[in-house]
Amino acid sequence: MSDNPIARHFFNGFIRLHILYHAAKEATFGAEMAEELVHHGYRLSQGTLYPTLHVLERQGFLRSHRKLIHGRWRTYYRATRDGRKVLDEARQKLQELVAEVIEDQDQGFQKIRRNRNRSRSLQAATAAPARTARPSRAKAHGYKTESQRGRVR
Ligand SMILES: [Zn+2]
Repeated sequence: MSDNPIARHFFNGFIRLHILYHAAKEATFGAEMAEELVHHGYRLSQGTLYPTLHVLERQGFLRSHRKLIHGRWRTYYRATRDGRKVLDEARQKLQELVAEVIEDQDQGFQKIRRNRNRSRSLQAATAAPARTARPSRAKAHGYKTESQRGRVR
């Protein structure tokens, strides 16, 4: 992972989401989580991972329990109800983020978007003014709608 502190600042959020995602699927423990994160391209020391797990637990997003494995205690983490709630909220925000940041770069996405816009303008041409579908969701996230930004894609 990047040693740049500013880059780390962003990636730490991704890491917390990864942890939350896996802990929502099944109970996981530090070493397993570290290995999982390596697969995603994040290499972080135990000195970083464990404090992150503890913070998430203190904030009420994870709950831990200890289990005796081959004569040694291992701490397992599971997402709490609050953790799952945050994960759901994050999913929606990720979709927004991907839609903007990734789609802008990706040829395949751009094609999908062009087709979507074409069918949208066809709809707009044939149907009565119905401009409430997406803006209401965007508003719920506190974002400006595309028309408010004066940029309709
Ligand atoms: Zn993962």
